This record gives sequence, C-alpha cells and structure tokens, in this order.
Amino acid sequence: MSVGKEKKLNLVLLGGPGAGKGTQAEKLVGDGNLTHIATGDILREEVDRETDLGLQAKEYMEKGELVPDDLVVNMVEKRLNEDKGYVFDGFPRTVNQAEELDEVVDLDLVLYIKIDQEEAVRRLSSRRVCSDCGKIYNTIFKKPNREGICDECGGELYQRSDDKSRVIRDRFDTFLEETAPLIEYYREKGLLEEVDGKREPETINSEIQEIIS
Ligand code: AMP
Repeated sequence: MSVGKEKKLNLVLLGGPGAGKGTQAEKLVGDGNLTHIATGDILREEVDRETDLGLQAKEYMEKGELVPDDLVVNMVEKRLNEDKGYVFDGFPRTVNQAEELDEVVDLDLVLYIKIDQEEAVRRLSSRRVCSDCGKIYNTIFKKPNREGICDECGGELYQRSDDKSRVIRDRFDTFLEETAPLIEYYREKGLLEEVDGKREPETINSEIQEIIS
C-alpha cells in the first residue's frame, strides 16, 4: 500500500482485546500527524464523568459486551472535525458501525493485529493504564520505572475493571461473534493488511511503518 506524503491517512486498527491496538496507536500518533480516536478510552471517560452516555455504556462495558451502535457512532461522528487523518482504535466493532464509518470517512487501510486468546489473557491480566494520560504498561513486560506510577506524567496506574479474567473471556467471545466479521468485510474491499501481533511492539510498529510508507 502506498499513500502519498501530503495525503491524509485514515486507518483502522482492528484486533481482539489485548492485541496491542492502543500501544500501536500511541506510536502512530506520536509525530502529531494523526488524530487518535479510541472509543474505549472515550467511553471510560464518559463513565467516569457520569454523563448520560457514560451511565448507559457502563452496564455493557462491565459485562464485556458492546455498547449499542447508535451511541458509539454518534460519539465518534462528533469528533470528526480535524484537518488531520485518523487512527481509529477499537472502532468500528460491528459491520453496522463500519458501514456508518464508510459514509463519512474514506479509509486507506485496516490493520488487523492478530493474537490468540491465551496471549490476550496473559497480557490483559497484567495490563496497567495511567489514570491521567492513558499510557499503557504491563507488570510483566513493560514495567514503569517506579511501581504504580506513570513514567511520562507521574499519574497513578490502575487496572481496568474489565481486565479481570472472567470479563476478558467475555470480551474475547464478543470479538469473535461481532467484530471478527469485519476481517472479511475489509478484505473484500481490498483494505486489509494482517500483522502478527505476538511480537515485540517495536517490531510490529516497524512493519506498520513499512506498510503505510
Ligand atoms: P476497549 O478499551 O477498546 O477494549 O473497549 C472497552 C469496552 O468499551 C468494550 O468492551 C465495549 O464495551 C466498549 N466499546 C469500545 N469501543 C466500542 C465500539 N466501537 N462499539 C461498542 N462498544 C465499544
């Protein structure tokens, strides 16, 4: 895939829970040319602020189920006002959401980051997230310098309530049932590139950079 330098790049990171979408998105938006839209992060903020949307979303998120399409699509569309390209992380998650996105954004590429369930559970149960800046850590293979404290901003690290093992399994089932059909959806459109997500984040990032250059 070749994308001209001046052209805005719109890409989707597709993958099950724990595939490393957030980690790769952080790297991709690092140079400031792309806007990160992570629906899970936005929804967690809404839950914390106890907004109407947050109160509606909470019950689904706690069970590892998807928040209804109309709520999520509306939430994303409100944010599509940048003059930059977008990295969609965790969106779309259903064929219906993908069809709605097609109406408003021309996608250039969908990166399917593939990992198996065993690896996902291993990663997610040791994942920690900064409560201030959202940076992602792992108590086994990406430890912060000071335990429980973010290296970047000094914020406190926490474990997401849906990173507990029972909910992780439910989220994986939800991925297989509702999101995995997007793999074929985007393959048929000629947009899909598959990336082996079991490797080191830096190796995966290099491969992604090669694909988009
Ligand atoms: P994530 O941070 O991407 O793992 O998302 C956490 C939770 O937020 C998911 O398990 C869903 O309950 C909800 N969620 C995030 N993105 C979407 C989406 N595109 N559609 C529906 N629900 C979503």
